Amino acid sequence: MKNYLSKMAEKIGISLTDEMLTKFEIFYRLLLDANRYMNLTAITDKKEVVLKHFIDSIALINFVDLSRTKIIDVGTGAGFPGIPLAIMFPDAQFVLMDSLNKRLKFINQVIEDCHLENVKTVHGRAEDLGQMEEYREKFDYCVSRAVAFLPVLLELCIPFVKVNGKLISYKSELLAEELEQSEHALSILHCTLEEKYSYTIPDSNIFRVFAVFSKNKILERKYPRPAGKLKKKPL
Ligand code: SAM
Repeated sequence: MKNYLSKMAEKIGISLTDEMLTKFEIFYRLLLDANRYMNLTAITDKKEVVLKHFIDSIALINFVDLSRTKIIDVGTGAGFPGIPLAIMFPDAQFVLMDSLNKRLKFINQVIEDCHLENVKTVHGRAEDLGQMEEYREKFDYCVSRAVAFLPVLLELCIPFVKVNGKLISYKSELLAEELEQSEHALSILHCTLEEKYSYTIPDSNIFRVFAVFSKNKILERKYPRPAGKLKKKPL
């Protein structure tokens, strides 16, 4: 696993230290073990885990420097992209949140075994945590992958982001279509699309794009709306 990961990372210009590779190896073993009794990932083939989970999570570092920042991963699931990014940026502080507590229990084991002192987990729905003082407008970056259609995702994530902070959404070729339907949400949530960074996952023809949104103003207190409303009637 380590060799293949190291080679694929090199292909996109990322060099991994031995310490980082060891952490990825521990994460990989825990993921496969826990996946036998818990629904964590449909991807279990070694090469696929490397490409679709590890490389896909860390490719962002070619475009954005997260050093010494505070980051929240909304809907982290089995820890993507949060855990790989935390391995790459030991001097950044990460909060990994999800509404499914059993996934966070798995992540807590990963944090312990990989000695990731820069990661904390929090259990809850983004709709509720985004209204809490402890999390509201406290992060330089919010990252999120495979959680919701863009207009919904914006309302779930933007409350966590400081003014002038950024939301980075991991998306596919469907981004253009999702953006067309997000104009109203972007305006209500005081956001603008700042950059789009795209790349192809090595050893595959999978196209990926990081959409970076900046938050320009404090958000009205009524956002995010409660769970039912937010999903039933996206902005
Ligand atoms: N981000 C991970 C990845 O890319 O592998 C997990 C993706 S999984 C398809 C979506 C995750 O988002 C699930 O673990 C789910 O529990 C979580 N989720 C969905 N809606 C959420 C919400 N409103 N608040 C918190 N977590 C949420």
